[in-house]
Amino acid sequence: MYDAIVVGAGPGGSVAAAVLAKQGIKTLLLDRDQFPREKACGDAVQAEGFALLREIGLTDPLPDTFFKITHSALVSPSGKRAEFELHSVQGEPCRVVTRYEFDELLYQYALRCGAEAQRAHVQAPIIEDGKVIGVRIKVGKREETYSARLVIGADGATSVIARGLGVRPRAEQDRCVSLRAYVDTEATLDPTIEIAFLHALRPGYAWFFPLSEHRANVGVGLRADAYRKTNRPLRDYLDRYLDIPYIRAMIGEHAIYDMRSWQLPLLSARQQRVFNGALLVGDAGGFVDPLLGAGIAPAMFTGKFAAEIGAAALSEGDVSAKRLSVYDRWCDREFGTTSRIRTVMQRLVNRLPGAVDTMIRLAHLAPEPMQKLVLKG
Ligand SMILES: Cc1cc2nc3c(=O)[nH]c(=O)nc-3n(C[C@H](O)[C@H](O)[C@H](O)COP(=O)(O)OP(=O)(O)OC[C@H]3O[C@@H](n4cnc5c(N)ncnc54)[C@H](O)[C@@H]3O)c2cc1C
Repeated sequence: MYDAIVVGAGPGGSVAAAVLAKQGIKTLLLDRDQFPREKACGDAVQAEGFALLREIGLTDPLPDTFFKITHSALVSPSGKRAEFELHSVQGEPCRVVTRYEFDELLYQYALRCGAEAQRAHVQAPIIEDGKVIGVRIKVGKREETYSARLVIGADGATSVIARGLGVRPRAEQDRCVSLRAYVDTEATLDPTIEIAFLHALRPGYAWFFPLSEHRANVGVGLRADAYRKTNRPLRDYLDRYLDIPYIRAMIGEHAIYDMRSWQLPLLSARQQRVFNGALLVGDAGGFVDPLLGAGIAPAMFTGKFAAEIGAAALSEGDVSAKRLSVYDRWCDREFGTTSRIRTVMQRLVNRLPGAVDTMIRLAHLAPEPMQKLVLKG
């Protein structure tokens, strides 16, 4: 019997497990993968994410392999470009780092804080009298059950915890499909991440995120309904982007490698995240920014907050949905307005590609507000 079980050891789950375990709560962190593990991602972690790590006590110096980013460039369908300086948050800059390294750092921190971890494929939550009382897992061919007073579902975009609790699959317009790859470069790369709104890739964008001076994460993302309609492989869009002359000049004849695709649940949809005895965080709760697809920092913030609410509820002996509903109110306060604005912006960019040109013109006139509006997600 555990006080809390966290399902999924991505950024959301590891932060939640670390925060719970630090408060002396007997916590089990389950993941189907052996860590360190790969994850399809653009690998850009917003500055807020690193500031949060400091807040929860991870104060070790970060490895030099976490490439610091100082600028972000936006490119419009007609090729117009605006560059923004990216601000640090509490002294921490945005960084591009493989998820192999980043998630391992968080996972190890959760263990150092006292969480127990086990590799296990979770099958479903166990529900009794309308209340979550644990999870059913598979280890090899063996099925087992674990009980807990609180379950935090942090098992990503295809969450079995969300599904088991009756959360319906989201509509295509509230999901994005995305493909990433790595490429080595001829050129010495600037610490600038590029987001290119291509005409053919709407609503969505292509990216070029440097991981070091000579290696970049490149990829494309497209809303799932648009992807189905165009019926073209994402690889075609990526090849087109990489063939744009200024990109080709950076990568020369290097071929892309380690291609991976996955989906992103966008915060444009409403979703239930609070249940009797359970909470959903990160992608399991559908917290990905609707305009830019950033989901790492939101997963960490929701993981931290769910753990804090969960810890308080456990100590009061009341983990009912009513008691846990403060999580919903917090999510609405933190993400509600911005996600609505960013959903409108995403739809605007889709219908009127010229809108990005206008945004870029405004960015030259008023960089600060445009930076806040476009890049803060
Ligand atoms: C191609 C692509 C590019 C992206 N680029 C960026 C980017 O540059 N910046 C950014 O901020 N966001 C980006 N995102 C979004 C980001 O990857 C996610 O929002 C983020 O990983 C969410 O974290 P999480 O902890 O909620 O879930 P995840 O990181 O998905 O972790 C979920 C964990 O749960 C485990 N799991 C799943 N099912 C089970 C099960 N049944 N039993 C046990 N364990 C299970 C998985 O193994 C995994 O370790 C991108 C996404 C994609 C697909």
